[in-house]
Amino acid sequence: MRPTSPLRLSSLTALVALTACAQGSASTADELLAAVEADITTEGLDRFASAIVRYERPSGSPGENAAIDSIVAGLREAGVPVEVHTFDTYASDPVSATVEIPGTGISFEAITMAYSGETDGLVARLVDLGTLRDLPGLEVGTGQRLALEGDPRWYGDDAAPDLQGAIAMVEGQPRNVPTAALALMGASGIIFVNPEERLNDLIVTSTWGTPSLQTYQRLPTIPTVQVAKSAGDALRERMTRGPTRVRITADVNTGRKPLRLVVARIEAPDPDAPYVLLGGHIDGWYHGGTDEGASNAAMVELAKAFHRNRALLRRGLVVAWWPGHSNARYAGSTWFADHFFEELRDRAVAYLNIDGVGQIDAKRFSLSSTAALRGLGREVVRAQAGEDDIRGGTPGRNSDQAFNGVGLPLLQFNHSRLGEDGGYWWWHTPDDTYDKIDFEILKTDARLYAGALARLLADPVLPLDLVAEVEALGVLIERRAEGSRGHLDLDEASARQARLLVAVREVQDALPGHEGADIDRALLRILRPLYRVTYDPVDPYHPDPGFANGLLPGLAPVSILAEEDPGSARYLFAETTLVRERNRLLEALDLATDEAMRLSDRLR
Ligand SMILES: [Zn+2]
Repeated sequence: MRPTSPLRLSSLTALVALTACAQGSASTADELLAAVEADITTEGLDRFASAIVRYERPSGSPGENAAIDSIVAGLREAGVPVEVHTFDTYASDPVSATVEIPGTGISFEAITMAYSGETDGLVARLVDLGTLRDLPGLEVGTGQRLALEGDPRWYGDDAAPDLQGAIAMVEGQPRNVPTAALALMGASGIIFVNPEERLNDLIVTSTWGTPSLQTYQRLPTIPTVQVAKSAGDALRERMTRGPTRVRITADVNTGRKPLRLVVARIEAPDPDAPYVLLGGHIDGWYHGGTDEGASNAAMVELAKAFHRNRALLRRGLVVAWWPGHSNARYAGSTWFADHFFEELRDRAVAYLNIDGVGQIDAKRFSLSSTAALRGLGREVVRAQAGEDDIRGGTPGRNSDQAFNGVGLPLLQFNHSRLGEDGGYWWWHTPDDTYDKIDFEILKTDARLYAGALARLLADPVLPLDLVAEVEALGVLIERRAEGSRGHLDLDEASARQARLLVAVREVQDALPGHEGADIDRALLRILRPLYRVTYDPVDPYHPDPGFANGLLPGLAPVSILAEEDPGSARYLFAETTLVRERNRLLEALDLATDEAMRLSDRLR
């Protein structure tokens, strides 16, 4: 099915667009897309991917700097305006780790993780906790208990395992939630057992971006190491013979480090026009072929192509190659959000994140997006790739999603391999090399971004579906109400969501025929307060720990009300949290409604 049919289809789209254009009926977006598509070639993609992937690129390394230099040179050669920002962050490079059973000569291959605590020899009894999935509240992707309460107990007070001073062994990928939770439980070290026979480099801090005075206390001090599945099996087998002590070492290089951030600015003919932000990380583990030298090359080609066709733009395009993704927890995108906060709030209208495209044998399309851009995303996949089966939807809390506080609609296209083809097995390993890139697939994937960008940059009215966003929020409110099992009254929130829905329907109906920067900004003013409650647990200016608590994360403690004895202190604490969070939600709904009503008055 792939990659030939979508390519044929997308050239067909271009042809149709060109024909329609000749007849004078094509939109500017169609014309722009046809021109941009013609400019994106496999040769161009290969040229930049080769120049980037030849280097190992931990952030701040000579390899990353060389890759950055080649991107800057390529952009400047094409006349694209480029800025390079240099700033200090607090990064962490894993250096080495060992795991052994003292006195036996038995040892296992191991790595440590970015931001692990260090030890040059910790000996302690080993406690096997099974798999992360078996530990309620600690499953991958669910940091609820810890995020909300700083309380990792999962077995109840009586049955909690005694981890004091022990090395905890748990099967699953090293992540921030289990690391913080097991440290709070009293463990002195952690051995993560990879569920497969490999080691994937990962990051264990629950700080987001460069730590601040409010967050540096969360930097882990507990040593964390990772072993492959077979080593976990061997350690378990050993434990069946009696109490087992293990010795681990972990060495990381953590501290201040200067990073460079490349930002290309492609201006529309109106230099004050709003802009769309496209970003992806330049650093990676090892050679990072598909994670993500290939995506970085697509970004260069997109920047050049839109720059060449800038006369057709109604809005500008800002393209950023984020450093500090893999070993500094999204420090580059977070630095940009911090230092360009006001500019982003005044001018940015959407964030497109690109991560991991161009994989050999990729077959499945999915989106990570806010509801306002989901319709556009699906339309583009259908038009560009001829694919109707589009999975996924809401974004997790796991990538350069640094703009929830600014309050931007988000769209990311994913194109991945199927499990039966071995999945994305080389992710975050030394095997993520140049040969894992398929340049025909990469061209298709780049064209998905071209398709979405063409609409966002050239449509008279921004293709944002306000109604879908407000409807989605209504479903979230209902779910949180149900989750509380009658313990939290969200009827008023639902009533105000219904009022907002009426208001945005009026806006959406009245929009055609109106255009301009002021309208774009007015649309964003409606959405911004909604994103701040839908994605951010507390406030727009300080990043959250990145523990995934689902959407409307502030209302996640409804599960505590549903489970807990209403006479307990814990219930009272949860109830207090939720009353405050409900105030925040109601205010967001009111702010959005005021903005929607103001805009519809203006459009009338
Ligand atoms: Zn990535």
